[in-house]
Amino acid sequence: MSFFFPEMKASQYFSMSLFLLILLISCPWLISANPHLNNFLGCLDSFYSNHISQVIYTQNNASYSSVLNATIQNLRFSTPTTPKPLVIVTPLQTSHIQATIRCSRTNGLNLRIRSGGHDFEGLSYVSQVPFVVLDLTNFRSVKIDVKNKVAWVQSGAILGEFYSEIAKRSRTLAFPAGICHTVGVGGYLSGGGYGLLLRKYGLAVDNVIDAVFIDVNGRILKRKSMGEDLFWAIRGGGGGSFGVVLSWKVKLVSVPSTVTVFTIRKTLEENATNLVHQWQSVGHKLPGDIFSAVTMRKVNRNGKTTILVAFSSFFLGETNALITLMKAGFPELGLKKEHCTEMSWIESILYFGQIQNKSIDVLLDRSYKSPLNAPMVQNKIRLRQKPNSKSWIRKDLV
Ligand SMILES: Cc1cc2nc3c(=O)[nH]c(=O)nc-3n(C[C@H](O)[C@H](O)[C@H](O)COP(=O)(O)OP(=O)(O)OC[C@H]3O[C@@H](n4cnc5c(N)ncnc54)[C@H](O)[C@@H]3O)c2cc1C
Repeated sequence: MSFFFPEMKASQYFSMSLFLLILLISCPWLISANPHLNNFLGCLDSFYSNHISQVIYTQNNASYSSVLNATIQNLRFSTPTTPKPLVIVTPLQTSHIQATIRCSRTNGLNLRIRSGGHDFEGLSYVSQVPFVVLDLTNFRSVKIDVKNKVAWVQSGAILGEFYSEIAKRSRTLAFPAGICHTVGVGGYLSGGGYGLLLRKYGLAVDNVIDAVFIDVNGRILKRKSMGEDLFWAIRGGGGGSFGVVLSWKVKLVSVPSTVTVFTIRKTLEENATNLVHQWQSVGHKLPGDIFSAVTMRKVNRNGKTTILVAFSSFFLGETNALITLMKAGFPELGLKKEHCTEMSWIESILYFGQIQNKSIDVLLDRSYKSPLNAPMVQNKIRLRQKPNSKSWIRKDLV
């Protein structure tokens, strides 16, 4: 006699218990105390979706923490009190993504989409309400069409994987994106994307020509079927706002087989204030083939605190041409041949990523700890529309 099923015979009760036991052994992710999670998992299970149990990580799963932490870049959002997802899904096929969207929606769970995990506020893996992380780590194929200068890249690829695939096929093709190679394509393109080729070729999203997108109803859309408004919005309107972008079709851009880079460092005692002041009014007038940036940091020189200013440039051409252009546009910097290094575009990604003594295969390393990433820092961007005065620069620097 069963308390739950009074009419059931002992043999029927035994068969049913056996069935439930087998179900729980074969689907351990169904064991959960959380009703949201139970309903979500039950929904996934009932959904027609092949092998989905292999890509589900609940908090009971031994791999849960390593999967969650694999791409967390900002340790401010990886503390014991940081809210954790009820479940992480690492889909292998499109139907897994559709099922995850539908089941989180019908069960009132927030869905966080994660590609490379570099979100400054941890938005791809933190939420204040019960949530699911959809991690696109298995969606990272890259297809390059050298002849037509286009590529399809999936969102879960990191920029380094994309760059490597381009460089494998051609020394004179590139994609205008950022210098931190572990940033994910999905979040990067969702935010617009700036990089070394910005002045010549615009933002990364200016070079996106199609996309495969899954909307809140699980529909798969391309540029034509989603319409130009949505296509405009997903290219810079902010990740996680409209749906899941699965892959992007992009134009590749031409670069010379040799590019030139340099970094000239000056302290306050070496005229840095005047040079920064001047750079503000000449930097943007340099030809579009030159990308020029200034970074500053406090250093100790001979027991005295000073500021070290680095003037860095990337040029689409060879040293002699760069020196001629810099002499005309910013002679005060005093650029000489010995400051310059010639290399390929792909090598320049390592140079600006501050990666030394490593082969370009490092670009495939998703877990590489980039020196560009300050893991506990909150980034702030302050845009100035007018050049800063010398006294303001001095005050700001010191
Ligand atoms: C060290 C470092 C260096 C950086 N350098 C640059 C740079 O040079 N140029 C530049 O432009 N930016 C740069 N960024 C900013 C970076 O581009 C953004 O933080 C970007 O959103 C990170 O993308 P991700 O896929 O790695 O991050 P994630 O944390 O995975 O995603 C970021 C956001 O996009 C959403 N999202 C992710 N994938 C998808 C998808 N497939 N569909 C829909 N939404 C999605 C997430 O939900 C989240 O809201 C840098 C960031 C860091 C930490």
